[in-house]
Amino acid sequence: MAGHGIIRRYREFLPVESDTPIVSLNEGNTPQIETRNLVNALGGGFHLFIKFEGLNPTASFKDRGMTLAVTKALERGARIIVCASTGNTSASAAAYAARAGMTCVVLIPEGKIAYGKMAQALIHGAKTLEVRGNFDDSLELVRELGEREEIEIVNSINPFRIQGQKTAAFEVCDDLGEAPDMHFLPVGNAGNITSYWLGYNEYRNSGRTSSLPRMMGWQAEGAAPIVRGEIVKYPETVATAIRIGNPASWEKAVRAAEESSGTIDCVSDEEILDAQRMLARTEGIFVEPASAAGIAGIVKSHSLGVIPEGSRVVVTVTGHGLKDPGVAIENAKSKSTVVNPDLTSVLYAIGLG
Ligand SMILES: *Cc1c(COP(=O)(O)O)cnc(C)c1O
Repeated sequence: MAGHGIIRRYREFLPVESDTPIVSLNEGNTPQIETRNLVNALGGGFHLFIKFEGLNPTASFKDRGMTLAVTKALERGARIIVCASTGNTSASAAAYAARAGMTCVVLIPEGKIAYGKMAQALIHGAKTLEVRGNFDDSLELVRELGEREEIEIVNSINPFRIQGQKTAAFEVCDDLGEAPDMHFLPVGNAGNITSYWLGYNEYRNSGRTSSLPRMMGWQAEGAAPIVRGEIVKYPETVATAIRIGNPASWEKAVRAAEESSGTIDCVSDEEILDAQRMLARTEGIFVEPASAAGIAGIVKSHSLGVIPEGSRVVVTVTGHGLKDPGVAIENAKSKSTVVNPDLTSVLYAIGLG
């Protein structure tokens, strides 16, 4: 059942009944790609696997939680789903609401959403509101809306989001045949690191694996409340998907890092953009800036000697690079060349003239 969505594949681990009306776009079952070029570029010494979550139906991992959140909302008879979003949650909510025949309302910070994500919310027909404020302001409004009976909140404060997202850890273990030694990923609202830690623990407790990875979470320097130990009132980073000043799952994320002997640290926007470009150039994998934070975390950890020789490392790249073409074109640091329509001009332009 690997191709039929995460609820059918992992239903024994999820809160669904035999007659639950499943809303799915066949999410999950994403590729886990071993990346030797990147490791060699860093000087070698460990095995790196990229869990490419940008290949979900709406091009981010958010679909794993959304399939379950929307399924449960439909099951209880809600008609409207609502979320605050830096972009990917709204893209996913809009698509799954369309699939379920429900109304979707998304609140996004004015002017701060990547172009591709805005396109997704609009094309799927979500009522899209730009709030004159940041993500945290939007989430506060959503909490108030959620008190109405007919409305279901599908932000990661919805417990089913975490339940659905934990299936990514199951897939990592199923693919590797065991849990990895370390798991790197970006941290925004901290729902995903919480989900992976839950998933790894459930798999070990069920006897499918025998160990747990160290959880290595990465915030952006300008939006690093967990690292600094205080709310960041005006978070700023090029990685808009992790531009969060007051994470919803803050304590759970800290616990995941502590219990696993891992860490939550931060990387600069420059390190994030360098990592995005490096991954695209060395491996042919194009991710959005927030996803590159985990890659930047690997670069940093490797340079500090934190990754043990021979260890098996997994990094989740959370969203596809096409979500944010504007940043990519800037960050490519190369431009197209206009040529005359003759071979001499073309040869000259590619350095063979
Ligand atoms: C949502 C998101 C994150 C952050 O995940 P959290 O669960 O909020 O920590 C990172 N990258 C991308 C692409 C996302 O969409």
